[in-house]
Amino acid sequence: MKCSQDGKFTKGELQRYGNIELSPASGVLNYGQGLFEGLKAYRKEDGSILLFRPEENALRMRMGAERMCMPAPSVEQFVDAVKLTVMANKRWVPPQGKGSLYIRPLLMGSGAVLGLAPAPEYTFLIYVSPVGNYFKEGLAPINLVVENEFHRAAPGGTGGVKTIGNYASVLKAQTAAKAKGYSDVLYLDSVHKRYLEEVSSCNVFVVKDKIISTPAIKGTILPGITRKSIIDVACSKGYQVEERQISVEELLDADEVFCTGTAVVVSPVGSITYLGRRVSYGDKGVGIVSENLYSALTSLQMGLTEDKMGWTVELN
Ligand code: PMP
Repeated sequence: MKCSQDGKFTKGELQRYGNIELSPASGVLNYGQGLFEGLKAYRKEDGSILLFRPEENALRMRMGAERMCMPAPSVEQFVDAVKLTVMANKRWVPPQGKGSLYIRPLLMGSGAVLGLAPAPEYTFLIYVSPVGNYFKEGLAPINLVVENEFHRAAPGGTGGVKTIGNYASVLKAQTAAKAKGYSDVLYLDSVHKRYLEEVSSCNVFVVKDKIISTPAIKGTILPGITRKSIIDVACSKGYQVEERQISVEELLDADEVFCTGTAVVVSPVGSITYLGRRVSYGDKGVGIVSENLYSALTSLQMGLTEDKMGWTVELN
């Protein structure tokens, strides 16, 4: 789908996967005018396909587009394009329990612009790929290191939207952490260097005395759709959930820690390392709260339990 100065996207079309043509002077290549989304399609037992809250991805892209001076497709255009793309690729949606079809909507400033300014033309496209289950043998805990030198976002910056540059800026710390054997990096706020923000591509939750807490959304962390869903699922199960500032000291003193995101769904954290000190959680790092919430959310996404929330969209 394309859009020029009038801010309206034309009707899109299906194309075979392949390279795209882009001006060397395009806004996305020169000034980083790019946003993306990530969602999954799951196969139900009866063979039909389920999307999980696609309108939330559309709304988040629209919010990000506003921050990045870009026009965005309407919620309806976005969701229709996702449905069309998934249906055209339905043979690639794995059987239930064997993974899902990852859907990647991408919005970019494709028009040429030499001086710093918003691009004169935009392109919205979607590509898909089958992916396996994140945890091949049940839930496996991840080991995080708290990053002390680099920050992912600063107040007033673009940390709260899913813009491409945010991901380039985490590569250095993430690569160094992985080389040392950690699964990923947990970022602290850039002002006090003391409060939890998020991991490179997921949100973080801390459990203490059965109370579940997660950093509040204040423009420096991505408002994860899994985060939002887990808060609702946890509340519906009777847990107390708090969205607030959480210090690194509280993190180290927690009973359980877990991360949420489209890729990992709910991922238990087995250990955290902060300034060389390593703290492990629980017996094998998989706490009961993480396990409960993981199975509640995955059964909903795969259509194994009744969707009382009305979150899933069935495609036939
Ligand atoms: N934070 C960041 C930085 C992310 O890239 C993601 C993945 N989109 C998340 C959190 C989790 O968001 P969601 O649950 O919508 O996948």
